Amino acid sequence: MLKPEIDALARLTMRDPSGIFVTVRGDPGAEQRLYLLVGTHGQEIAGPIALKQLLEGEWRWPNVSMIAVWQDPRGYEEEGYGFLSAEGDESCWPPLWGYRMNQERFWVYIDENSAWGNTAVIPPRHQAMRDLMHQLQPTFCLTLHETVRSEVKQDLFWAGAGILLIEALPMSTAEHVAALDPVGDPFTNPIAWAGRLLFEWIRPMLGISRWRHTAKVLQSNPYYCLTTRIAQRFAETGRVLAGKRWMQYMEYLGDLVLGLGRVGHALDWTISDWKTATDYAIVHYGCPGVTTETFQVAAEGLRGIDFRVAQQLKYVEAVLSVLNEGE
Ligand SMILES: [Zn+2]
Repeated sequence: MLKPEIDALARLTMRDPSGIFVTVRGDPGAEQRLYLLVGTHGQEIAGPIALKQLLEGEWRWPNVSMIAVWQDPRGYEEEGYGFLSAEGDESCWPPLWGYRMNQERFWVYIDENSAWGNTAVIPPRHQAMRDLMHQLQPTFCLTLHETVRSEVKQDLFWAGAGILLIEALPMSTAEHVAALDPVGDPFTNPIAWAGRLLFEWIRPMLGISRWRHTAKVLQSNPYYCLTTRIAQRFAETGRVLAGKRWMQYMEYLGDLVLGLGRVGHALDWTISDWKTATDYAIVHYGCPGVTTETFQVAAEGLRGIDFRVAQQLKYVEAVLSVLNEGE
């Protein structure tokens, strides 16, 4: 597949004065309301192309309405990463390793993805995106990203990983602590505690994942159950979630692994000023969110843009179909 011309997608959307492209689908009064954000980082082109394919099809989910935002169409054309200048007045696309500081050593550029917090100046397109989210009152927030090119050092490691789901789920601090810490409190039951400690010690040697513990802790969290159903629906379409090897790596890094291909977005981001759209959606609308990451092709017969677009589209459709079914 060649990268579609920007006009091919622009025809399916409305151009907002702030520069973003917007599409609305479904009955605005629907019980489930999806906020879909694509093209935050210009070089991550699978998201906008997946949105194009979604919009070319029929709307098959009567119980769901959607506002879809294409955040940085110019970035798509130039395949720039998508940073904002600190003044918030224009975008620019320096390479990621080029985080620059001014003479007072403050950040000059803000990653477009992290600018949903209390930035000194809210740039027009971020204000427009917030206004649209307010209008929708979302019940689910989905943002499509990719790890391609020079975005992170692990590119070669990640190549061909299958889709990775970064899930931002409303949960209590107690749930979060229990999910992260399988060893728990030594004082209530010291013998059980010692047993768990021993198990945690040998677990990596036996190659046993920690996420089954997390799944047990979160089994009564309705948002976790919802995203579990979505991940299952996605897998049923024959699509690939990031495999065991990658999940072991995430666990090694201390991430909250929720299942195959699924990591928890750290809860502390919701109280930080560096917020993503999914953090913002939790704080303001109490709704769960997922960020997808697809990965680039590599030498070992790994798959290119068609595959990445198909992964993204199938995940969006899995979200829509599960939301459409309701409880
Ligand atoms: Zn991105």
